[in-house]
Parts: sequence; C-alpha cells; structure tokens
Amino acid sequence: MKTQNNISERILKWYKRNQRNLPWRKTKDPYYIFVSEMMLQQTQVETVIPYYHRFITRFPTVETLARASLQEVLKAWENLGYYARARHLHLAAKEMIELTGGVIPDNEEELLRLPGVGPYTAAAILSIAFDRRVPAVDGNVRRVLCRLFAIRTPLEESKTQRRIHNLAADLVPVKASLFNQGIMDLGATICTPRHPVCGRCPVHSSCLAYEKGLQETLPITRKRGPLPHKQMTAGILCTHDKLLIVQRPTKGLLGGLWKFPGGERGSGVSLQKSLEKVIQMELGIEVRVGEKITAVKHAYTHFRITLYAFRCTLRGGAPKALKCHNWRWSDPQDLAEFPFSKADRKIMAFL
Ligand code: SF4
Repeated sequence: MKTQNNISERILKWYKRNQRNLPWRKTKDPYYIFVSEMMLQQTQVETVIPYYHRFITRFPTVETLARASLQEVLKAWENLGYYARARHLHLAAKEMIELTGGVIPDNEEELLRLPGVGPYTAAAILSIAFDRRVPAVDGNVRRVLCRLFAIRTPLEESKTQRRIHNLAADLVPVKASLFNQGIMDLGATICTPRHPVCGRCPVHSSCLAYEKGLQETLPITRKRGPLPHKQMTAGILCTHDKLLIVQRPTKGLLGGLWKFPGGERGSGVSLQKSLEKVIQMELGIEVRVGEKITAVKHAYTHFRITLYAFRCTLRGGAPKALKCHNWRWSDPQDLAEFPFSKADRKIMAFL
C-alpha cells in the first residue's frame, strides 16, 4: 500500500506542474465534462478541441441540446467520426430532460443507463465532475499500468482488463479527479505508445517494465489482420440544377448522415448494374448509370472502402424513402447545410 501511495503522490505532483491545458479542465460543469468525454471516446485530444468549443457554443445546456434536431447535432459533429456518439449524446440529453429535468446524474447506476455511456465514461464523469473516488481507465491509463506492473498477458483478455482495473482502483487517491487526469496525461505525453520518455517519468523508479527493459514491448496486444475492403457506389443525379441526396437510416454506421444514393456493390455484378439496383431498392426509381466521375478511398475502424461515383440520369419513377430515412433534391450550394461523411465530401469537392 505504501508503494501505491507513493506512485499516486508522484503522479499528482507531476500533474500539478505538467498538466495539459485543455478547455474542459477549466470547468466543473458536469454537462461540459459529459460532452468532452463523449467526444474523446476513440478520438485524439487535439482533434476534439475545436469541436468541443463549437459544440458547447451551439448547445450550451442539456436543454438546448435536447431541443435541437438530430440533423443539427450531426452537422456540429460532421467529420469527427463515430457518429453513434452524437446520436447517443442527443438521446441522452432528451432522456435527462425527461428524467431529471436536465441534471447530469451523479451516480454510476443512472449514468450507465444513458445511451452511449459505458463504465469508463461514467467513471470519468463521476471523478472529474463530482470528485468521486473511482478509477477511470482509458487507453492511456491501461498502457501506463501495463508497463508500471509489467503485465504480460494480452490487453484484450478480460483477466488483463480486470487486473488493470483493480490496480487502478488501488492507486486512485481521494483527489481522484486530479489523479485520473494525471495518469491520462502521463500516458499521452510521457508513457507514449512508442518510445516512452522514461527518463522524464515521475514513476520510473517503481516501473517494472523500465527495470526489465520491457517498456517498448508492453502492453502486449493481439495482432489485427488487414482491414477488409468494400466497394461502394454513389449515383450523381442532377435535374433542373438540383442534386438528389438521401439521408441514411438513423441507426448504424453513419446513421442520420446524408449521402448520394447508392450502396455496397453486390457480388457477381458490375459496379454500374449494382448501383442501378441499389438505387431502385433505396428510392424506387430507375436510373441509367453513365460515366464514372471519380473514386475515393476511406478507412473506418473495421474496414476500408473505395467509393465510386457515377453520373446517372433518371429514367422513370418518383423518389420514395424505401430504404433510407429521407431524400431531397438540393441546390448544390445548400449541400453545406447537411451533415455528410468524409468520403461523400471528397466526392463533392471533386464535383
Ligand atoms: S518508466 Fe517508462 S514505461 Fe514506465 S511508466 Fe514511466 S514512461 Fe512508462
């Protein structure tokens, strides 16, 4: 226990002098901390900062967020990726208005009931906004603890996760907010994934990985195979100077975002034939697929895509939302008002 106290104290002391200057650290408002934690899931701090500023200016309270449309929220989130987080945040705001009058819950049970809030996010909110003595274990913390205690079992295994969580729980002091943020900063700036700067680390004298020269090889992770590749198609239909765009179903990857009509290439058919069929199923219209305009590449967490855009002409029928949430003919200059994915924006830039 003495060693643990010692480690915690050194991290607290180091954090006092070396903490990163982050906007959500200048507040104790649980709503702002909630927004920042949702944005920080799977995303780098530097990427989040401008989005955080814009988001809390646009939606300064739980109430303003709950009152906004999903499209407004997705637009504010555009290009930040992992759009389920935006949908969850929006839903969580609506639920909090109904259940608590817009107050962020200060207990784990109620936080975990909100959409998109898992054990890490709940713990981060509880410790940072409400000063509860709970460990918040994110990727940075996992790496620091794996090295500090020379954990050699794969990070993905549940017994490794349990062990890390128990170690974090033993380390977390009364000043949980400062400690949790301190160990996160240590992982982000000193105990980095590659080339940790052990010479400047406040806990190097207690670090088993450093002692055994294992700091570059820990943590152990299972190797991932190459990402599967999908071929996607998009039809550019233009009538009376307006472009046909569709809104994706509100659930699933990129749910609620807008796109050009089209979808994944079917097996055993050409890109053009596949596009014809997908558009017919999506909107109930017949199109003739013409020349290829461009092809853009994009990678998601679990797969990568090549998106082929073709010029199309309408042959028959009027659009109906059969396999999409909504559709419309839009003036090209109005496209900026709709939330689109990065791949679709690349096509737009080309157009
Ligand atoms: S001594 Fe090195 S490996 Fe150990 S916690 Fe510090 S930075 Fe990480």
